[in-house]
Amino acid sequence: MNEENYQPETLAIRAGTVRSQFGEHSEAMFLTSSFVFDSAAQAAARFIGEEPGNIYARFTNPTVTMFEERLAALEGAEQCVATASGMSAILACVMGLLKAGDHIVASRSLFGSTVNLFNNVIKKFGVETTYVSATDVTEWQAAVRPNTRLFFLETPSNPLTEISDIKAISQVAKGCGALLAVDNCFCTPILQRPLELGADVVIHSATKYLDGQGRVLGGAVLGSRKNMEGVYGFLRTTGPTMSAFNAWVFLKGMETLKIRMDAHSASALQLASWLEAQPNVSRVFYPGLPSHPQHELAMRQQKTGGGIVAFEVAGGKEAAWRVIDNTKLLSITANLGDTRTTICHSASTTHARISPEARAAAGISDGLIRIAVGLEAIVDIQNDLARGLNV
Ligand SMILES: *Cc1c(COP(=O)(O)O)cnc(C)c1O
Repeated sequence: MNEENYQPETLAIRAGTVRSQFGEHSEAMFLTSSFVFDSAAQAAARFIGEEPGNIYARFTNPTVTMFEERLAALEGAEQCVATASGMSAILACVMGLLKAGDHIVASRSLFGSTVNLFNNVIKKFGVETTYVSATDVTEWQAAVRPNTRLFFLETPSNPLTEISDIKAISQVAKGCGALLAVDNCFCTPILQRPLELGADVVIHSATKYLDGQGRVLGGAVLGSRKNMEGVYGFLRTTGPTMSAFNAWVFLKGMETLKIRMDAHSASALQLASWLEAQPNVSRVFYPGLPSHPQHELAMRQQKTGGGIVAFEVAGGKEAAWRVIDNTKLLSITANLGDTRTTICHSASTTHARISPEARAAAGISDGLIRIAVGLEAIVDIQNDLARGLNV
């Protein structure tokens, strides 16, 4: 895949490109549901897998394949399976790798819909999940049962940017014969390569930084050919497939992934440092700051602190809402990974459906605000926040 050992920014632009007979420079978008064969014999050979090639776009499409090859090269994975969304990537991962009676150990600090998927969908099919601390490796070991088959985490977590030690947790997983899946949405392979650190499976919501401009939904599951066999089989049979149009948007987005992640990270660090100096801010959560409890682990495991900053304002929900409602530039939305900076009050949006007690236990206070730092001038972002912070 990468015999020349190209750098990530090169792979993000070049990997996976296949040209048609027209010699187009930019990747072509193949909006076709099916593909034709030269003969009945060729059709037969394709359908039984004797001859590689496209058949039907639920499971084969050249634009989607280009996306898969590019992301696989960036993550250092043997195979990538593209999906319709990040959530369908997690669904395909679980359905492809597990069976009734298996057990998942998962970080307590997961994306809300992932928790809903595990608790309300997967559980109905006889797969139970035990939640443990994102940061305390001993809890992972203690939660293991004889039927544990999958560990699942995301790092940094949302919204508190807790860092899970991928290498240490992967060793616990290996010790009990479980696979470790890491949702790498916040870092992207530009900042963190979980497979190199011992993970077996990488999950993406391509909707976020891979697109980078807030346009379309998509996802991906990556890992060894062996582990992806069931994941691909699930997708082929059930159809939560990435569309060719969306794959094309992601291919274009990924071409600028490296410079965007560098710029998001530089601005986030600047904003986090500025927030720490504001009198009405009681605490800032950002892995790139020396004040972050796992700063050293973060700097070992990730290239930068990433683009997400959370902070607590003194004065609880009222003060937090005042900051949000006094912005003119920032977008009030829970999405992230966009060129536009977004701001949200975690307790009343992304984490509103969990009980106040569970929220408090997770450390998500009423004064907490999450910012996904975009690519606008940092001074404009600071001025927008200062208005509500200084009243
Ligand atoms: C958004 C998100 C998802 C889900 O992705 P969709 O594309 O919205 O389905 C999963 N994990 C994380 C960390 C996310 O931020």
